[in-house]
Amino acid sequence: MANLKLSHIYKVYENGHKAVNDFSIDIADREFIVFVGPSGCGKSTTLRMIAGLETITAGDLLIGDTLVNDMEPKDRDIAMVFQSYALYPHMTVYENMAFGLRNRKMPEKEIKERVMKAAKILDIEDYLDRKPKAMSGGQRQRVALGRALVRDPKVFLLDEPLSNLDAKLRAAMRTEITALHKSLNTTFIYVTHDQVEAMTMGTRIVVMKLGYVQQIDTPMNLYNEPYNKFVAGFIGTPQMNFFDTTLKREGDKVIVIFQNGDKVAVPYEDVSKIHNRYLGGDVKVTFGIRPEHISVSKEGKGLKFIVTNVERLGSDSIIYGKLGDHLGEFTMKDEGNMIVVKMNDSSNIEVGDVLYAEPNPSKVHFFDAETEITLMSKIPPFNTIEAAVSGDSMTALGKKVALPAAFKAAIGGADRFELVVPPRAIVPGNDFELKVARIEKVDNDRLAYLRNGDSYVFALVGESVREGDTYQFAFENEKLNVTVGGEEVLKAIDDEVSLLGTFSKKELKEGHDRVLHFFYDIGEYSLETSPEQGYKINSIDGDNCYKYTYRYAVNRNAVRIVGDDEPGLNGRVVAFCDYGNIRFAKVEADGQEFLITVDPKFAADKVRVAFNSEDVSVYSTRIDMKIC
Ligand code: ADP
Repeated sequence: MANLKLSHIYKVYENGHKAVNDFSIDIADREFIVFVGPSGCGKSTTLRMIAGLETITAGDLLIGDTLVNDMEPKDRDIAMVFQSYALYPHMTVYENMAFGLRNRKMPEKEIKERVMKAAKILDIEDYLDRKPKAMSGGQRQRVALGRALVRDPKVFLLDEPLSNLDAKLRAAMRTEITALHKSLNTTFIYVTHDQVEAMTMGTRIVVMKLGYVQQIDTPMNLYNEPYNKFVAGFIGTPQMNFFDTTLKREGDKVIVIFQNGDKVAVPYEDVSKIHNRYLGGDVKVTFGIRPEHISVSKEGKGLKFIVTNVERLGSDSIIYGKLGDHLGEFTMKDEGNMIVVKMNDSSNIEVGDVLYAEPNPSKVHFFDAETEITLMSKIPPFNTIEAAVSGDSMTALGKKVALPAAFKAAIGGADRFELVVPPRAIVPGNDFELKVARIEKVDNDRLAYLRNGDSYVFALVGESVREGDTYQFAFENEKLNVTVGGEEVLKAIDDEVSLLGTFSKKELKEGHDRVLHFFYDIGEYSLETSPEQGYKINSIDGDNCYKYTYRYAVNRNAVRIVGDDEPGLNGRVVAFCDYGNIRFAKVEADGQEFLITVDPKFAADKVRVAFNSEDVSVYSTRIDMKIC
């Protein structure tokens, strides 16, 4: 039994191919985690890194509380089951199962107990004397499972274990492996390219594409709230329908306008998380609806389509159609005009029928046509709020408040501008107030819908805030973007200070020994770091590490102003940025510029800064990769 933690794991193969990028997940004890994605997305590589069969380029892998990056596979207390079974053909089932234990010099008596117990669980007690070739695929896969089982591992890793089996056996083995997981109470990590296996077996699923994690969630959350178009299309059969559309808000409705001019209306309340900028009718939006969430009628509202094929599967049917009412000849260009509907009763539907498809408004999905990211994130990424300038004040959300000097400088002489406000930048305060129309629990957060005219401002609020309350709040000004007529004039200040530097080692005499010390060097500032960090950088980049440039990132709050007697980086203060509630000094040092937080009275033109090496994250500048 064990929990696992993968923290910023990367795999770069020797030929330079980056197979896994920044993979992080906390896996609780006894979870059944499935890695799913198309061939080549990095699933097996990740699994093999967990098993210890592949080195980890960067990142930390913990099993329980132990860092195991450099631990031998046999010491990791992990058992792996492969697609190919990998049974020894000349050995009996019993010997195959006992082999690993004998290698560990386990007493024969205990080996026998363990093999018999596993054989019983897997229902292969009657085959123990057979050789693998005298067994069916399903039985062989059970032996492969048995060989893992007898080791009583903390973690089971399974790499496409069912892909050599026929469809019927696969379905049966799915159930058996799920039952095995339940009875063993052990952590399982299972790799498959088959979304049905993922959906039916996983307690949580990691969807991957081209080496990047797309979404980690429960099967139902992936199905109901896919983060992007890729996940939406990958999970669910038949696949979700996608259409190029534009959206137009009309009162309490949002009209979805298809390329052929057809329209479908959905209540604004169901899609109010979509940002206003998509609702003006001029931005391309990908509309998604699952085949099972469409109802069909012979006359009436919705998308007109002509039936091109009907697949009757017994309990339900799949109707294929083409938008419009002409069959014509099918060309590949028609793809975006195709519609697939899943329904129970198709007895009165024939090829050539002209029908109307009506999406269930509470099951619709919308994606940005370019980024393919959902427009209905559980927590909307930002609100856009109009502001008008009068002298040193601004009016926003019906309140007149001080205009921060940094905003005033950025907008030039403009008398109107927009504040781009992430929900997390809205905090209790006295500047603004809006009524709380609704509160939604999103994971560990509470998302408030604050009524603002005919739409909402989204904010994260504490436990004490209730629906119907008037919420009083302010903005953390430094976390906002500012735009004038949609053009960005000021970027939010991120939480980190980033500095480029090099890495060095010195051998110093300590008593009778010479001991290696490692340093992050930024200009004249040499910051000693722990031997662990030093060895990590060294193991990733080899001796070249002393030639490369690294990016050192530190949380801004961890940067201290220090006196001349402490090691530090000397800089010139070139400007101040005043956000009202918080003030920054722009510092130039070692030819680089960065912002530090200063108190309101700070006025010096020189400053010396320092930070602790434990607070520094190190990034490679050659490949986009966090090293430690
Ligand atoms: P999956 O299991 O999702 O099918 P893999 O993890 O096997 O994908 O592979 C991920 C990517 O890494 C693929 O593009 C594959 O070609 C590449 N790859 C796998 N092994 C190696 C290797 N030893 N050297 C270089 N590239 C590799």
